[in-house]
Amino acid sequence: MSVSFICTRFLAAAALVCFTGSAHAEWFERIDQAMGTEVSVQFWADDAAEANAATDAIMAEMRRIDTQFSPYKPDSQLSVLNRTAGQTPVAVSDELAFLIARSLAVSKLTGGAFDISFSSVGQFYDYRKKQKPSDKQLAARRSAINYRHIALDRENKTVEFLDPAVAIDLGGIAKGYAVDRCAEILLQRGIAHARVSAGGDSRVIGDRRGRPWMTGIRNPRSEGSSLILPLESSAVSTSGDYERFFIDQQTGERHHHIISPKTGRSATGVQSVTIIAEDGITSDALSTSLFVLGVSRGLELVNRLPGVDAIFIDSSGLLHYSDDLQKAAFSGDS
Ligand code: AMP
Ligand code: MG
Repeated sequence: MSVSFICTRFLAAAALVCFTGSAHAEWFERIDQAMGTEVSVQFWADDAAEANAATDAIMAEMRRIDTQFSPYKPDSQLSVLNRTAGQTPVAVSDELAFLIARSLAVSKLTGGAFDISFSSVGQFYDYRKKQKPSDKQLAARRSAINYRHIALDRENKTVEFLDPAVAIDLGGIAKGYAVDRCAEILLQRGIAHARVSAGGDSRVIGDRRGRPWMTGIRNPRSEGSSLILPLESSAVSTSGDYERFFIDQQTGERHHHIISPKTGRSATGVQSVTIIAEDGITSDALSTSLFVLGVSRGLELVNRLPGVDAIFIDSSGLLHYSDDLQKAAFSGDS
C-alpha cells in the first residue's frame, strides 16, 4: 500500500463519458446503480470491446452479490437465513460462510463494535419514512444484538442463531467485499490501472498511469469534498452519518444507519470515518467499526493494526489522523 496525503480543498470534476470506440488504449469509465448505491469503474484498457466486457462483468458481479446477500430481497440467501436460522441450523454457501466468519472476526477484534446482528433492532429503522425502533421493540430485542448468538459451523457449513430474535445484515462489509471481487475480475483481465467504487467503498489497482488515484473525503455537513487522498494499490472506505439518516424534528436528533450494538441506537460522537487498508473487506468493516468505537478507542485500535490508517471527522467537525497519516500529512513528504 502506498499512501501520501494532501490536505487541501478539492473540487470534484466528474467525467462521466467514454467508450469512444477507438482501437487504442485509453481510459474508460462507467457509472451505474447496484447494491442500492452508485457503482463506478474507471480503468485503462486496450480497446472498447475489452472495456465493455470488463464493465459488464463488474456490474454482473455486483448484482450477483446483491441477489445473494441483500436483506431487502425476500429470496436472498441472507433473507432465508434470517427467517429460519433461529429455529434450526441452516446450510449456507461457502461465500456466505466466509462473509459471516470475517464479520465475526471483526466483532472479536473490535470488542463487539462491529456486529452484523445489529439488524435484530436495526431492521426496524426506515430512514425514508423517518421511523426508528419503538422503545418496546428496543427493549424486546436489544439483547439479541450479540455476535456470540451466531453459531457458524465452518466444517458443516451451517449457521444457527442461538436467540430466535436475531437477524443479521452484511451492509457494513458487503460493498467492500464486492469491490475486492471486482478488482480480482479486472486483474484477471490484465487490467493494471483501475478504480472501482460502490458508494463509500473503493479499491484502486495500481496507479493512474504515473499519478496517484485521487479520492475525496466528503465534508459531512456540506456538499463537496474537503480532503483528497492520493492512493495507489489500496482500498478506502468512508462511513458517514449523512448517508442514510433522518432528523427528529422534535428533538433535533440525527438517526442514521450506523448502530451502536450496546444501545441499539445510532452511534454518536463522529460524523465520518475513513479507513485506508490493503483490501476493501478490511476497510469497509473497519470504517463501520471505528465509527461505533469513536475517536479515541478507534485510533488506539487502528494504530495497532499494520497496513491500516484512519481519518476521523468528529462531531465538532475536527479531523483526527492515525499515527502514520499524521506523520505523512505534517512531515512535508506528501
Ligand atoms: P458503512 O457505510 O460501511 O459504514 O455501512 C453501514 C451499514 O452497516 C449500515 O447500513 C448497516 O447495514 C450496517 N451496520 C450498521 N451498524 C453496524 C454495526 N454496528 N456492525 C455491523 N454492521 C453495521
Ligand atoms: Mg463499512
